[in-house]
Amino acid sequence: MPIRLICLDADDTLWHNETWFRRTFEAYAELLAPFAPAEDIQRRLDAVEHRNVPTYGYGVKGFILSALEAAEELAGNDLPPFAVRRILELGREMLAHPIELLSGVEEALPQLAVRAPLVLVTKGDLHHQESKLAASGLGDWFEGVEIVSDKRAATYQRIFARYGVTPGEAVMAGNSVRSDILPALEAGACAALVPFHLVWAHEAAEAPAGHPRFRELASVAELPAWIDSLA
Ligand SMILES: [Mg+2]
Repeated sequence: MPIRLICLDADDTLWHNETWFRRTFEAYAELLAPFAPAEDIQRRLDAVEHRNVPTYGYGVKGFILSALEAAEELAGNDLPPFAVRRILELGREMLAHPIELLSGVEEALPQLAVRAPLVLVTKGDLHHQESKLAASGLGDWFEGVEIVSDKRAATYQRIFARYGVTPGEAVMAGNSVRSDILPALEAGACAALVPFHLVWAHEAAEAPAGHPRFRELASVAELPAWIDSLA
């Protein structure tokens, strides 16, 4: 069946994201070093974030609230006010960081756009995701932008219906097996994993190797040819 809609993830598929979270974590771990070793800080922060996702959703603002909460859990009443200020400052820096496109993206988008309409599908803070898309300069390639609170099979089905295609006519490509691949396959679409070397613990999942509608690509540059092979 020809592909009539190409959905693309944004963070760590089009531009760097996890890189910034890792850099922020390094500063955060240094700040909390008097209270715990880095591995314990990482474990505590992961647990707090995981617990808070249903409440805060995805994105930098929820991350910073979780970072404050984890810091309080680790340091208790010994957490100095300057540490709170510094964590808030790290959050502001993350929200203002420059957009750095991943290699091959600028070349791949025009090739994809001649094949089918492109839709950006991303989760996170509405305001921040919109700002990043504007700063990326990639906005004109997309027919639509879907900033969603979570990526489930029903989310993808809604999006396919909104753009007037059946799931079998849609492709989703992204770096997260948990958010971009498994629910898109469940929705009935084809899904391409474009791996990024850093994966947030919350997104880790096993790729469905051998699934007939799934392919792991070496980079986004391979996506146009894979889409051609599906037709
Ligand atoms: Mg992503």
